[in-house]
Amino acid sequence: MSTPALPLSPTDAAPPGGAAAESGMAPLPTPAASPSRPQPLVRRLALGLAALAVVAACGSLGYLFSERQATAALRVEANYRLDLFAAAVEGIVKRLEHVPATVQLNQDIQALLRDPRRPQRVQEANTYLRRLNAHLGSISVFVLNERGVVLASSNADQGDDSLVGEDLSFRPYFLDALSGRVGRHFAIGVRHGEPGYFVSHPIRDGARVIGVAAIKIGLQPVDQAWAMLGAPALLADLNQVVILSSEPQWRYTALAELPVERRVDLQLNRLYNGLRIPPFPLPVQLHVDEDSQVIEGVMRGGVPPRERLQRHDMLLLGRTLDGMDWRLLTFTDLRGVRNQALAHGMLSGLAAGFLLLLALFLAQRRSIVRQRLEAQRMLEQANAGLEQKVARRTRALSETNARLRREVAEREQAEQTLRAAQDELVQAAKLAVLGQLATGITHELTQPLGAIRTLSGNAEEFLRRGELKAVAGNLGIVARLVDQMGGIIQPLKAFARKSQATPVRCDVAHAAASALFLFEQRLRKERVELRNGCEAGRVFAWCDPNRLQQVLINLIGNALDAMRDAPAKVLTLRADLEPAADGDGAAAAPRVRIDVLDSGSGFSEQTLARLFEPFFTTKAAGAGLGLGLVISRDIVRDFRGELEAANRAEGGARLTVRLPAAPDNPEAS
Ligand code: ADP
Repeated sequence: MSTPALPLSPTDAAPPGGAAAESGMAPLPTPAASPSRPQPLVRRLALGLAALAVVAACGSLGYLFSERQATAALRVEANYRLDLFAAAVEGIVKRLEHVPATVQLNQDIQALLRDPRRPQRVQEANTYLRRLNAHLGSISVFVLNERGVVLASSNADQGDDSLVGEDLSFRPYFLDALSGRVGRHFAIGVRHGEPGYFVSHPIRDGARVIGVAAIKIGLQPVDQAWAMLGAPALLADLNQVVILSSEPQWRYTALAELPVERRVDLQLNRLYNGLRIPPFPLPVQLHVDEDSQVIEGVMRGGVPPRERLQRHDMLLLGRTLDGMDWRLLTFTDLRGVRNQALAHGMLSGLAAGFLLLLALFLAQRRSIVRQRLEAQRMLEQANAGLEQKVARRTRALSETNARLRREVAEREQAEQTLRAAQDELVQAAKLAVLGQLATGITHELTQPLGAIRTLSGNAEEFLRRGELKAVAGNLGIVARLVDQMGGIIQPLKAFARKSQATPVRCDVAHAAASALFLFEQRLRKERVELRNGCEAGRVFAWCDPNRLQQVLINLIGNALDAMRDAPAKVLTLRADLEPAADGDGAAAAPRVRIDVLDSGSGFSEQTLARLFEPFFTTKAAGAGLGLGLVISRDIVRDFRGELEAANRAEGGARLTVRLPAAPDNPEAS
């Protein structure tokens, strides 16, 4: 028996990939499975939205911060410009504010007021005023009597333009001065509609006010200074009416709605020369800080769509001019600031987005590195586990191998023991057959022995009588009888001898004859008809003749036993060559078929099932061991043959021995 090839190397032992589960090995853990499961869509969406929110928040913060910073800077600059501008306006106006007070001190004026009917005094006063006006560069300087009629004026010599004789008692500056106060306000000129700033001062004669000195200061220099502010701007008077503006369409509009009594006043004092005063085109709401006189403005309500300045794009800042009740307002455009803030907001958003992406990238990279390390660790673990398993399996296989080798050795030993036992059994069976035959043989030998006894006794008598011829005849018969007895004993000796089971070219007819010879007397005694179909020199089997003879003795013995009570006892022996076919139907080596047929009882179903069981017998105790057929089949199988049993259709049993046919040239085989 050959030792099976056992896989001892790890590669042989390790099952290929997919077979891991079948082999009971744990499958390699996939690294992606544990640390980073694929994120669910909802979580990703939420993260995306959160990132967007962060970007939007950063953008908004950037926008607000930038806008606030830029607005503050703008405010500082605008305030600075406003201060400058306010100072310029105050300079233009206040430079000449004291002039009326000076006029009252003039002797000519005093004289005129005391005696206004004298033309010379009028003349002198006019001359003085003209010179003064020319020197100061104001629009006009004039003197009114206590009824408000102009007595003398700097422009008295300008014909129709002359104010002399004009009744200006309706002007607030006249009324203020008449009441002993300094009067000052903006008004449009009654003659040419030229706007100006009027300042008046009472002229006293003792405690009594006898007239009023007034100056009209031109405001063109203010108009020329708008550029200094660098933004649309306006000047509004006490009534919140825009009197000067860099935007011409804003002029003579009211920043706040005028109360009715004020309107009536305006009708009377004709400050705006009877002009209709529409509301300011932009809806502004002003807040004046009483301490600092700083004005902050906001837009309220909607803005006409085609208005040049848009509500959201303006910063309203202003000042109340010192001691003048005038308000200076600038409208600084904030669009630049907003655009810049927008750019900064976008940049902040982008920066935040970039930082988020960077953080994401770093997190991803860290996660990938972690996954790789994890995968590597698991791979190493799996590898170590695999190696352990391989080592375990290799150990187990080595042990199995050793056990198999041991078992093979044991089986070989057992086979040897079995074979020895079989040989012993064959021998025992032979001896048993010899024992059975002993009576017959004794009987066979008794007759010749008796004859020899008689013949030898007769020979003694013939010798005494001297009948040598008769003695010789008797001795001749004795010799023949002894030969006959030797003939009987010779096959028994050959049968009893232990033989080596070596296959040779064996004549089946010869083996059959030897077996039948042993049963000769029994066949005769039991009146068995023998039909021996085996012809000498016709069929040759490839086996040991002695063993074949043993098999046939067993089969013939059983057949005779089975026919003991049969009415007709026919024993038939046949030997033929039959071509054997292998599994594929292809012709193979021819086989010898030997049939032993009897007309006995045949096999019962139960007997047929247990026929080849050791120690199965239906015979009486001592008559059979139940080993004959078992041994016979083993013998036949030893020569690569087969023994089969069947019932015959016509009654009785058929035992068939198949053996390989002997080759024609045994040397070659
Ligand atoms: P034994 O002859 O010692 O009983 P065998 O193994 O030779 O042992 O035979 C077993 C049994 O098979 C026999 O007891 C018998 O019942 C049955 N048997 C064998 N040969 C025949 C036969 N030719 N006809 C009927 N029965 C048979």
